Amino acid sequence: MAAPTLVLFRRDLRIADNPALVAAMRHGPAIALYVLDDSADGRPLGGAARWWLHQALQRLTADLARLGVPLILRKGGQNAAVASVAAAAKVSGVFWNRRYTPWGMAADTELKSWAKAAGFAAHSFAGNYLVEPWTLTTMQGQPFRVFTPFYKALMAAGDPGLPLSPPEPQRPPDSPIASDTLSDWRLLPTAPDWAGGLRAAWPGSGKERLAAFLEEAAGGYGQGRDRPDVLGTSMLSPDLAFGELSPRQVWHAAHYRAGVAPAAADGIEAFLRQLVWRDFCSGLLYHFPAIADRPFQPNFENFPWRDDSEALAVWQKGQTGYPWIDAGMRQLWETGWMHNRVRMGVASFLTKHLLLPWQAGEAWFWDTLVDADPAQNIANWQWVAGCGADAAPYFRIFNPITQGDKFDPDRAYLRRWLSSARDYTPGSAGIPPIVDHREARERALAAYAAMRGG
Ligand SMILES: Cc1cc2nc3c(=O)[nH]c(=O)nc-3n(C[C@H](O)[C@H](O)[C@H](O)COP(=O)(O)OP(=O)(O)OC[C@H]3O[C@@H](n4cnc5c(N)ncnc54)[C@H](O)[C@@H]3O)c2cc1C
Repeated sequence: MAAPTLVLFRRDLRIADNPALVAAMRHGPAIALYVLDDSADGRPLGGAARWWLHQALQRLTADLARLGVPLILRKGGQNAAVASVAAAAKVSGVFWNRRYTPWGMAADTELKSWAKAAGFAAHSFAGNYLVEPWTLTTMQGQPFRVFTPFYKALMAAGDPGLPLSPPEPQRPPDSPIASDTLSDWRLLPTAPDWAGGLRAAWPGSGKERLAAFLEEAAGGYGQGRDRPDVLGTSMLSPDLAFGELSPRQVWHAAHYRAGVAPAAADGIEAFLRQLVWRDFCSGLLYHFPAIADRPFQPNFENFPWRDDSEALAVWQKGQTGYPWIDAGMRQLWETGWMHNRVRMGVASFLTKHLLLPWQAGEAWFWDTLVDADPAQNIANWQWVAGCGADAAPYFRIFNPITQGDKFDPDRAYLRRWLSSARDYTPGSAGIPPIVDHREARERALAAYAAMRGG
């Protein structure tokens, strides 16, 4: 039997449209490796993402088993685990799909040098985004800092390649390699088991969600995307964040649907535009790695953020007294997901009404979102806080009362997540408002003026 190959799985936990897996299986019988590496995203995964990861690894193990590919689980640093498995299985080469975060790239660059020195072939592939972050540049050869020109350039570059089919099954490699047991990683909460809401919120697979969205909601996405009271968006963010679906699969399935249902084409175009935001965010973190914890706009280094752990806890628990904010924070806590319109509202409230640093909100989202993604979380938090690339100006402050009235006109979202509230008036759920909207707005504008030296 030919020497086995080793395929690394990271945030690409799928067998379809997986270029590294396809190439590895062409070279010989493949072994798959997933390493639970706390440094992979610069910090350990949060609780909700760990819950999602457990399910995703279970699904991947079963899918790979059907292909005759064993999935080895290891914990610790990625490259030490690769070295150990590569030596034990006497592999001929290591294969992976590229990632673009500063932490991921540092580890993978090191892996490539190690492989070269150790005499292994190392092959990396593009598979996790519509384009690689260095492919599109401005006329001046610079990275894009503004979304719309980036979007236009991506559309002008043409459709991304067609997704790859899963490889044909193989005869499994001869000798088994030691693997951790998934349940020993304790990714699922036990004492207490707080994941009941997550289980209820996420029945079915991403493929089913994609099919249902394209058939039922995509045509109305242009309006539906702003309405948290209806199922108007795809809810595919965790599948994309963990790579159970690739953006190319989503892209081509959506185009196919637009072909057979032309009435849905406009909605589908608007949906794919959002998918391009995912690439845009990844590109920002790739080109400007300092934004992981520093503002994209340097003048915000001097912003007079407050340090107030009590106010932060009130926001986290959904007890600000503003029903729009509290409903959103409860949806997040219960389901690991929050509608984008409400994410913008709660992020604006934290950074503007409460004047708390975006990093504190980003960290809470990191811990509580099933779709927590380093680039999307960081870029969106900075965007809302006003300090990001292409950001809404800081002085545009969302009104948490009128936003609720506008985007949840029948109060169905409110009834679902904060049934004690009558309407979107502050205090209507019996919780006194943490700040007065008008005063908070004035305070935020004054802080902004102070930063600008005005
Ligand atoms: C403060 C804040 C933090 C966020 N953190 C994350 C995060 O950690 N992970 C994450 O996946 N999304 C994040 N988003 C973006 C967005 O809210 C979610 O992607 C979206 O709500 C997911 O729901 P959906 O799959 O139904 O989206 P759809 O509307 O169906 O969009 C399809 C896909 O496009 C991508 N997308 C949509 N909107 C955005 C956006 N604004 N920026 C980047 N990609 C986008 C997502 O991958 C999404 O699944 C954040 C937004 C805000 C305002």
